Amino acid sequence: MTDVSGGGAVAGAWPDCKTCGKGTLLPLSDYGRDGATITYKAWVCSNPDCGFTVRCDNGAITYGRSPATPS
Ligand SMILES: [Zn+2]
Repeated sequence: MTDVSGGGAVAGAWPDCKTCGKGTLLPLSDYGRDGATITYKAWVCSNPDCGFTVRCDNGAITYGRSPATPS
């Protein structure tokens, strides 16, 4: 799938997670009530130890983290 010629270390399209600094924020899509696809409705960190999420609901941004490790 990758067609990188040049040997660069560019990760690609997704931004790094600023919370843990290790994971990558992956976009998640959802479907609205009318069946329309909502592209990139939420972003989730690929690091399971982080669990950082960003959601967009009707223009409102919600930040959250999964309670992976109680502190
Ligand atoms: Zn993270």
